Amino acid sequence: MSSVSEWASAGRARDYGIDESMILGYGHDDRVCAYPSFDALVETKKLKKTGVCILVDKEEIGSVGATGMHSKFFENMVAEVMDRMGDYSELKLRRALYNSKMLSSDVTAAYDPNYASASEKKNTAYFGRGMVLMKYTGSRGKSGSNDASAEFIGELRKIMDDNQVHYQTSELGKVDQGGGGTIAYILANYGMDVVDCGVAVQNMHAPYEVISKADLYETKCGYKAFLENA
Ligand SMILES: [Zn+2]
Repeated sequence: MSSVSEWASAGRARDYGIDESMILGYGHDDRVCAYPSFDALVETKKLKKTGVCILVDKEEIGSVGATGMHSKFFENMVAEVMDRMGDYSELKLRRALYNSKMLSSDVTAAYDPNYASASEKKNTAYFGRGMVLMKYTGSRGKSGSNDASAEFIGELRKIMDDNQVHYQTSELGKVDQGGGGTIAYILANYGMDVVDCGVAVQNMHAPYEVISKADLYETKCGYKAFLENA
């Protein structure tokens, strides 16, 4: 849920809470997932396969435009790299995309005790419980979302367990009240395994959003574990 609301002023991010366990800031959605994505790739030393961090915008208006995920930019860049390696063909490009695995790095709605009725308590994210895996997003349940396969979720659970990454699962607010979209379904059209995965946010789309520092740290660790082991 990448959000850039031009009308809202950007203030400095600040520590939040009596224990300073949280960060209050503008535009966590979705900078709080973009940053650890890039940072994890830079820090990862043990890549067995080609690692990529794709940063796209305009998700909030349908991932359109030259810099949105619907553009052909990524597909074209993979083709360019294969061509420079002297190994391009349309079929090899399709196979490379089909055989890829991806974490769609995006935020989810954190449980807010002040608005408890907006969440399904057994299927929501809580601050301090780590990186969030969202098997599906969408509206009215799963409509319009990428619904990740159970096998891929199982593979990720093992990777996170093996690397001592704390994670939890969530939906985007309860059915018929919450909901939302990400870019996961667009990459899934290539046949690749994709799941939404990121940091839980309170106050989403408000001028100041709140996240947990511990969750952000675990998310970066999770992204690194994925890059090194998937
Ligand atoms: Zn959003």
